[in-house]
Amino acid sequence: MDLLEYQGKQLFRKHGVPVPEGKPATTVEEAVAAAEELGYPCVIKAQVLIGGRGKAGGIKLAQNRDEAQQHAQAILGMDIKGFTVHEVYVEAASEIDEEYYAAFVFDRSAKKPMAMFSKMGGMDVEEVAETDPEAMRMVHVDPLIGFQDFHARRLAFEAGIPADVIRPVGALLARLYQMFVAEDAMLVEVNPLLVTKPSGAATGGSGKGGRDVVALDAKVTIDASALYRHPDSQEFRSEVGVDPQESMARERGLTYVALDGNVGILGNGAGLVMSTLDVVAQAGGQPANFLDAGGGSKAEAITQAVEVILSNDSVTAVLFNIFGGITRCDEVAKGLIEAFDQIKPTVPFVVRLDGTNDKEGRALLAEADLPNVHTESTMLGAAKKVVELANG
Ligand code: GDP
Ligand code: MN
Repeated sequence: MDLLEYQGKQLFRKHGVPVPEGKPATTVEEAVAAAEELGYPCVIKAQVLIGGRGKAGGIKLAQNRDEAQQHAQAILGMDIKGFTVHEVYVEAASEIDEEYYAAFVFDRSAKKPMAMFSKMGGMDVEEVAETDPEAMRMVHVDPLIGFQDFHARRLAFEAGIPADVIRPVGALLARLYQMFVAEDAMLVEVNPLLVTKPSGAATGGSGKGGRDVVALDAKVTIDASALYRHPDSQEFRSEVGVDPQESMARERGLTYVALDGNVGILGNGAGLVMSTLDVVAQAGGQPANFLDAGGGSKAEAITQAVEVILSNDSVTAVLFNIFGGITRCDEVAKGLIEAFDQIKPTVPFVVRLDGTNDKEGRALLAEADLPNVHTESTMLGAAKKVVELANG
């Protein structure tokens, strides 16, 4: 699960990784109020799950109330690479001296976390990685030992950062690693990791006179399977930008992925659903979704699944492809009959029931005599039929 910048920074703060003061806002009024509270200059930053916001015009510096208002107005609702901005983060501006790059990722081949660090951070880090790969320094961390001072020193010396920031950079990396582990993160990336001007001059500095090191951006991915251990992070699950059918399905515990076509698909078991998508494509159709009702689906799960599929207006026909193993075809038939009773679908259904209790299932369907429901005995036959119905 990817977090928005300000959500990531909330976790940074919790684990002692220094970040500037800031407040999220969803309206221009809220953004202006936040700016007034933080003081000027401040930065208005688009909160979307995509990088390169700076270059896309999604990050703007405001010197006063009018500018804060203008920028919030311009950024809220803006489209950044296909993502609409529903939220901004208003943050006390920092005076930038240098921009570094820092990250912890899982190196799956080494089966260890890996720290990455470069003194060439900022907006073009991908380019740097290509033209000057040596500039990106990496070190593996033994998960049993954790991130140690020597790791930090090695990265700092190899990257060649100035002596005055070696300690604060090392301290920040150690905290970042703590967070990476404690929050079950898959990725934490800070770009830029900022070195401020000496804090006499800087806003929000430590006041000790030296340069401070601050996380100016946060890209955090949390392992979604570990969310049950982090009730706080569950709230980060942003419904913004999530497909409405997908969130509806998630609430019901169904595995659903939205696709572009018009043939609604339901199957049991991910493998069967994937092959169903292929067969529909082979028959010249375009699936509207992937929906796995799971093994052992009871009637209620089927009713809910039909609701999710039909809540997508693009769907012009639905294919039920059920292979009864643990799932019993008569249960599926009952679910479908109930669904027709409750929802009264207006689009045609093609049903293929095979396996455990398929005869009973087909008998139930025949008896119920549902309007516009066609039964087919083979997968390819069912796919051809549904494509014909969807397009005709
Ligand atoms: P990204 O473009 O989506 O990665 O967004 P970032 O948060 O990394 O911001 C992009 C760039 O905006 C940074 O590299 C900075 O140069 C600039 N920026 C962000 N915050 C501030 C700030 O507080 N002050 C100044 N002067 N520049 C900032
Ligand atoms: Mn960035």
